[in-house]
Amino acid sequence: MKSNKQRKAEIKARRLQRAAALGELLQVQDARSLVAERPAGVEPADQEVLARYNNTYGLLPAFYVDRAFTCRDCGIEEVWTAKQQKWWYEVARGHIDSQAVRCRACRRALREQRASGASGKKVT
Ligand SMILES: [Zn+2]
Repeated sequence: MKSNKQRKAEIKARRLQRAAALGELLQVQDARSLVAERPAGVEPADQEVLARYNNTYGLLPAFYVDRAFTCRDCGIEEVWTAKQQKWWYEVARGHIDSQAVRCRACRRALREQRASGASGKKVT
């Protein structure tokens, strides 16, 4: 039997691989045809919803793709999934230029720190 920790690590490794593979695919394949195939790790964007509250000169995305990033606080590699992005931009209404910069653990730590009011210094 595998422990939860092992399983989580495996899922994470797979996500990182998938994000890297999708990134490579997008460089060689037309984005529209890729999205039409709806592979795992790709979510179509609802541009109408985005346009309602995004005042941007830039183009709104037609889709989201799993994206690997390095946590600003602990340096760990994590994947911001297409599903999470869709939720962030379309449900939570995060600004289209905003991106995930911290891993789940660091975000939770930051939230708890803020909630406790222990920190006097401004964290951005
Ligand atoms: Zn972190």
